[in-house]
Amino acid sequence: MPCGCATPPHAPGECNGPCSSPGYWEMIPTYQCFPFDFGGNNDGSNNSTNTNDNGTGDGDDGVPNPNGPNDGEDDGSYTTIVDDSNPEQCDNPPPGDLNGDCVVDIKDCILSGNSPEFCECKANGGSDTDCANECGRLKALSDVPSIKSKLQTVQQDSGNHEKIFRIDINSNTGEYLPSPIIEDNNGSNHANISVHHQTTAVVHSHPTSVKYKMFSADDILKLVQIVQRIQDFGVSTVQYLNITQMVVYRENNTFGFFAIRFDDIQSIQVLLHVRNNKRKQREFKRRIKNAYQNDWNYSTYTDETTISKQQAHLYEVLEDYGLNMTIFEVNFNAEDWNIDSWDKVDKNDTTIKIPCT
Ligand SMILES: [Zn+2]
Repeated sequence: MPCGCATPPHAPGECNGPCSSPGYWEMIPTYQCFPFDFGGNNDGSNNSTNTNDNGTGDGDDGVPNPNGPNDGEDDGSYTTIVDDSNPEQCDNPPPGDLNGDCVVDIKDCILSGNSPEFCECKANGGSDTDCANECGRLKALSDVPSIKSKLQTVQQDSGNHEKIFRIDINSNTGEYLPSPIIEDNNGSNHANISVHHQTTAVVHSHPTSVKYKMFSADDILKLVQIVQRIQDFGVSTVQYLNITQMVVYRENNTFGFFAIRFDDIQSIQVLLHVRNNKRKQREFKRRIKNAYQNDWNYSTYTDETTISKQQAHLYEVLEDYGLNMTIFEVNFNAEDWNIDSWDKVDKNDTTIKIPCT
């Protein structure tokens, strides 16, 4: 064993016989360096052709690449620097410092018996009340100043161009870190962004050129692309059920800001299965696209679609697939982006918004 806890070398809790130290596991701070997106398409595929699937926010075809687990995307390398300069117990731990590393942080929050979701929310400035439920935790995610200013930029309608950014989590502090905004300017309405194992959300716009403002099939499949990244990488502090796709739009005087998440882990497995099967993935995309087109009125030649109708259609398709997912809608002042709260869109009547309990 090349390294171990004193003599004879052993892993913590695995000492056979007399040892000079029992050894213990401890969280240590690490710094990770991730490749940045500066726009464009870095997934190695050619998706500059507009396939006209109404704004996907994901140029990834989702089909596993036989050459490797990474789908041929995200070929940037990961650099990990481990800072072990202060693994010692400190002499005078401040109140609440349960792991004795001299700082009161997200690890102490978890150690005192709170859920990782709650602690992540607290680490980003959420109140105890907000962090106690899912709607409040979405508020914390969307209310971080650096994220809110990007949301305001993204919502500005830029004609046919989608804008997109992702939100990563600092694995030590739990802080939400927005990436730079990518704006598609290839003449298509797709903006693509790569995701990785610390990505917790993707935020994008559905500008004028995107007819149906609700989530496209690709928007939803993007959620399991993140899951795939986490599984490929093997370790992450991202909570699967916190992985969020958000869409924002501003058209004439109407505004919208929606989020979608999984309700349970089984649904993630179901959608991973769909994503990893070319035929099933095609079918899933077709089903959602067709569902949105259901409100075309053949006698008046107009599309009588509304956001609520689109949400109802989306819920129907998801239910057919056994996918338990919830759409959330924000209550906010669209002018100054003062976010009041988030509500769930009722699955039985999408005109009804229900607060989280
Ligand atoms: Zn989209």
